Amino acid sequence: MPVLEVVNLKKYFPVHKGVFLRPKGFIYAVDDISFIVKQGETLGLVGESGCGKTTLGRCITGLYDKTDGHVKFCGEDIFSFNSKQLKEFRLKAQVIFQDPYESLDARQTIKEILKEKYIIHKKESKINIDEEIATLLEKVGLQRTDMSKFPHEFSGGQRQRIGIARAISLNPELIVCDEPVSALDVSVQSKILNLLLKLQEEMKLTYVFISHDLAVVKHISDRIAVMYLGKIVEIADADSIYNKHLHPYTEALLSAIPLPDPKIKKRRIILKGELPSIQNPPKGCRFHTRCRHTMAVCKEEEPGLLLNNREKEHYVACHLQELK
Ligand code: SF4
Repeated sequence: MPVLEVVNLKKYFPVHKGVFLRPKGFIYAVDDISFIVKQGETLGLVGESGCGKTTLGRCITGLYDKTDGHVKFCGEDIFSFNSKQLKEFRLKAQVIFQDPYESLDARQTIKEILKEKYIIHKKESKINIDEEIATLLEKVGLQRTDMSKFPHEFSGGQRQRIGIARAISLNPELIVCDEPVSALDVSVQSKILNLLLKLQEEMKLTYVFISHDLAVVKHISDRIAVMYLGKIVEIADADSIYNKHLHPYTEALLSAIPLPDPKIKKRRIILKGELPSIQNPPKGCRFHTRCRHTMAVCKEEEPGLLLNNREKEHYVACHLQELK
């Protein structure tokens, strides 16, 4: 059974305008998305900013309610949970946020910050809290003496380590990592990614890793889902996405990754125009206004996410593939 199963999930935000705040349509942030994540796997979720990936991450962890569809955690729909079940679920599904500084209370010491979850979930009295926090800090590459310090005394990378310590403190099963390294220097990014990989192996964690950067996602993901305007347009194992991608949008994203060897020339595909409004997505294929292969059918009919390679579990939503 997959740890996470997302079935036809929709999340629309109503838009109100004018003095009387009359309803004026919706923002289609997540629009009919389905996928699974197996135990111990990392699913990378990639796309430009505004494509709906953070909203999807928040729906998965129950931080946002759904408009329609299901999110099943170990087979059970999280939107049908009562408050007790929801509290249990929140123990098992955690989030690592993008900005470690914003997500840590500047007035609290690291010990107070990390202690909070044990108090909320009534675990504090059952353990030696100082020892527990010291072990946690060492696990993420910090010192046990750091527990008496405040967030401003740490670098960006160290603060993200504290964010990771908080996420793993109650032995979760699933962690949604929402752009966890995008605010960090490149030199620090790889250290944090390696830490996440080490913890995944030690604790048998399952990750959903959200990023706008395909180079970062490549480093950590087993499978990758590419999102565009609230939809998944391609999903496959990481190797297929990098070497046998089928969707023109994935191709354009990959062409923007710089190569480490300056002697190797690579043709960059520049996407024309701006990302269309998610409030008013184009008819047919949502990518047709920027795609260099647009055909008449693309402007009229929305392509379904169809299986292209069963062995690689490679799905793509593009009329070009249907013609092959
Ligand atoms: Fe491009 Fe058409 Fe494929 Fe959309 S369906 S990605 S417009 S070729």
